[in-house]
Amino acid sequence: MSTRFTVLTGGVGGAKLVDGLTRILPPHSLTAIVNTGDDFRHFGLPISPDIDTLLYTLSGQSNQELGWGREGETWNFMAVLRSLGEEDWFNLGDGDLALHILRGAALAAGDSLSVITARFAKAWGLPLSVLPMSDDSVATWVATDEGLLPFQRYFVEHRCAPKVQMVRFEGSAEAQPAPGVISAIMACEAVFIAPSNPWLSVDPLLSIAAIRTALEETRAPVVAVSPLITGKAVKGPTAKLMAELGLDVTNAAIAYHYGDWLDGLVVHSEDDAPDTLAIARTNTLMISPDDRERVARAAMDLAAQLTR
Ligand code: GDP
Repeated sequence: MSTRFTVLTGGVGGAKLVDGLTRILPPHSLTAIVNTGDDFRHFGLPISPDIDTLLYTLSGQSNQELGWGREGETWNFMAVLRSLGEEDWFNLGDGDLALHILRGAALAAGDSLSVITARFAKAWGLPLSVLPMSDDSVATWVATDEGLLPFQRYFVEHRCAPKVQMVRFEGSAEAQPAPGVISAIMACEAVFIAPSNPWLSVDPLLSIAAIRTALEETRAPVVAVSPLITGKAVKGPTAKLMAELGLDVTNAAIAYHYGDWLDGLVVHSEDDAPDTLAIARTNTLMISPDDRERVARAAMDLAAQLTR
């Protein structure tokens, strides 16, 4: 049997670890299960931000400067949109539009999100399987001091400024994992949880009962990489949200949030670490390809030491 590994991931932060893992693993031995709680329709187009971030990052097309979207993107569509007086809070690049238009047409023709995603990954020659967490709709909603907001309104339009009171995932009780998701967790050497936002990017996956059960029941060790570096998020609202939810901004709080199914945690250099699970330490800031490899290797090495 070929050796297989699985990673659960959100967008930008997670994609860096996924990239590192593909650099140290044989081609086609990794499956990435991706958050779709951020997915939404905009001007009728189905947008899957985390899937697309992964596709761009793994195919070397991600925009390093912006930290999201495509390298060398042009913005003619947005300029025309603005000239027509339409809402411009969500940026859609000209090249990026191709994915949303093709995805929309394929969904309308009856293809599932997982089939469409696999087609994109194959077209760009990606050396891994990219699976949406579900082909069913699960939508992240954020209850804030400014009211209940759909995820993208909170994240992009309001730039995460409102104070978060609660996060919920509409549709998760009925959603089934996409084909291949459960077997990828059950039949692998190790499961990794990328350093994505635990509450906004990983929890949508965990809100699907069958995925959480698989993490509890798999014989593979489960190892997370912490998104915190010296008590701060590298990017985005993780630390702010933890504080707003009344939590200590610590690795211990993240390990506690994930629960007993988490066997190991990779933390940054000298950062705090809980004594309730196995810990590995390295510089977890991933800027260069070498950084990504180093963090991926730390997670692999920790998983190799663990049994269930
Ligand atoms: P989004 O869905 O695009 O917002 O991205 P994710 O949820 O996947 O990633 C956001 C999280 O990734 C934040 O909590 C960041 O702290 C974390 N992150 C981003 N870059 C790095 C990095 O280089 N190292 C570590 N350890 N975490 C990172």
